[in-house]
Amino acid sequence: MTVTVFQGAGVHVTFDAGVCKHHGACMRAQPKVFDVSRTPWIEPDQASVEQVLDAVSQCPTGALRAVRHVTGPAVDVGALEGFVDKVRTDPSAGALTFRVMTTWQGGTASTARTGPVTLGSESLTRSFTINADEPRELLGEDSAPNPQELLLAALNACMTVGYVANAAALGLPLKGLSIRTTGTLDLRGFLGLDAAVNPGYDEVSYQVNIVSDAPPADIEALHRHVQRTSPNFHNFARAIRMNSDLRIESEQT
Ligand code: SF4
Repeated sequence: MTVTVFQGAGVHVTFDAGVCKHHGACMRAQPKVFDVSRTPWIEPDQASVEQVLDAVSQCPTGALRAVRHVTGPAVDVGALEGFVDKVRTDPSAGALTFRVMTTWQGGTASTARTGPVTLGSESLTRSFTINADEPRELLGEDSAPNPQELLLAALNACMTVGYVANAAALGLPLKGLSIRTTGTLDLRGFLGLDAAVNPGYDEVSYQVNIVSDAPPADIEALHRHVQRTSPNFHNFARAIRMNSDLRIESEQT
């Protein structure tokens, strides 16, 4: 494996030459950052951190990885420990219910609205919208991420919270973290062409990149802990009982 790290002020990029298929997507996205006529061929400081992250996300092979150097506020360890004690004393305080209402917007587009979250005996107001659509090649207008992208994003976001919160609780310094997740569907399942084909994912792969000066064994233990405790890791890894309720309304009363 020939992995090279290119340091920038706000982000660093890792390149695995053994995985690169020379698509050139990185160079088309940010030609000043990725330039094979130059040494070094990757200069992260030639664009903004967001532009570098956008370009790296377009690499189809995983040859590129990027981690933003985070200097923002750390997780409040005191508040976290207080909440852990509260749930240990009263498990009902840890009951958490989420609600999302999705409405069709026409075509393949939909908008989800988050409803109140119930946390123990409290109701927390949540009012966010999340749009979804399909690419034009899949009959959409390409106006928003599609449901599969949102699903993988939800997995990554959940695990990110797990790494960050548990690292803070364990006193492990994290300077940066990124997770790259890939899943491949066989559309014969969705299209109803073959009942033997699973419409969903048979497997999902993810790479976690962590920048930390903590001992590697501690980071590996953190990784195992997140796999044991991340809700969305388990929402992917275990079967969930699905309860459905169909109501049909007619405008002819
Ligand atoms: S986008 Fe990825 S696979 Fe394509 S040339 Fe760049 S590093 Fe290689």
